[in-house]
Amino acid sequence: MKRDYYEVLGVSRNASQEEIKRAYRKLAFKYHPDRNPGDKEAEEKFKEAAEAYEVLRDPEKRRIYDLYGHGGLKSSGYQGFRSYQDIFSTFSDIFEEFFGFGFGGRGRTSSQPSSEPGNDLLYRLTISFEEAVLGAEKEIEIDTFVSCPSCNGSGASPGSHEVVCPVCNGHGQVFQTHGFFRIGTTCSNCKGRGRVLQSPCSTCGGSGRVEKTKRVKVRIPPGVDTGTRLRLRGEGECGYRGGPPGDLYVQIHVEPHEIFERDRNDLFIRVPVHFVEAILGAEIEIPTLEGTEKLRLEPGTQPGTVIRLRGKGVPSLRTGARGDLVVEIDVKLPKKISSRQKELLKEFLELERQQGRKKPRWAWWKRNDGEKSEDENRRVFAFEK
Ligand SMILES: [Zn+2]
Ligand SMILES: [Zn+2]
Repeated sequence: MKRDYYEVLGVSRNASQEEIKRAYRKLAFKYHPDRNPGDKEAEEKFKEAAEAYEVLRDPEKRRIYDLYGHGGLKSSGYQGFRSYQDIFSTFSDIFEEFFGFGFGGRGRTSSQPSSEPGNDLLYRLTISFEEAVLGAEKEIEIDTFVSCPSCNGSGASPGSHEVVCPVCNGHGQVFQTHGFFRIGTTCSNCKGRGRVLQSPCSTCGGSGRVEKTKRVKVRIPPGVDTGTRLRLRGEGECGYRGGPPGDLYVQIHVEPHEIFERDRNDLFIRVPVHFVEAILGAEIEIPTLEGTEKLRLEPGTQPGTVIRLRGKGVPSLRTGARGDLVVEIDVKLPKKISSRQKELLKEFLELERQQGRKKPRWAWWKRNDGEKSEDENRRVFAFEK
């Protein structure tokens, strides 16, 4: 949404030409880019004020704007500003009037920016669970800026070099004196550096860098997790005209595993065990990161028994020490049994009675959501053998 021109200049709708001019002058000096280097907001305000002034100073444009607003100006053919040159000539007019001299319509388009550091880059990389746990080496492709091969990043064409800025004679500032005033502003031709390129490189136009799709090797240390950011120093965008390069950040996203659930450096797994094996005790096979491992179940193992295998989890990114593999025993009961199996179970029950085994006592199952132990709270994944 375009702001109202009167609002931009901070004047009333029936302001006189003199008031409009004064209001614009104040804003133009306040937001002049030379006084606010690198400040995008000030630059926008500077442009906005110049545009509002251009319209309100002109009785015909002002009349159309008053009647029909921004849309009316547009349909009457007023395009606003086309270039920086236009804005600065508006500013120059008023400057001239105030101090008795102007900038001679000199725009900023010919100025050579000084060297600047390159931007940092962010790359989102999805890796498998195993790669995150065991570490990996990946190659990624990024669109970036690299040092210009023609000028080796200097921005100067071969054989040429930097020369003293002819506008400020190397001072980096332009002084203008009128009466009591001596105003110093940053030289816009050299941006205050005092030196400019004699002849800019034709390959990169003087920036010292060119766009390129680059391949970068990323070493992923064991133990990374979703959200881990790896920093590759100096692998970001090449600097502007010999400035230092930025960094490349690789943000890791880890795909879930079909068996293991991970919480920091611990791994969780739920292993189904046949009820007879649980009663009699057995040697079962469980999956680990290194393959499979045998685990001895004691006779009479209860459902939900948790066995913690120390050091079989994920290595810590910082210390390398490995977390645990937490195994939850999931005792499975058969849904359908044969008549022979039924006979055997009935016989089993009869033996229990003969041995005088008491019926288990009723006990209330108490909900205790708020005080679950950490292990109970952790979600576990089923592993089907
Ligand atoms: Zn170049
Ligand atoms: Zn200069």
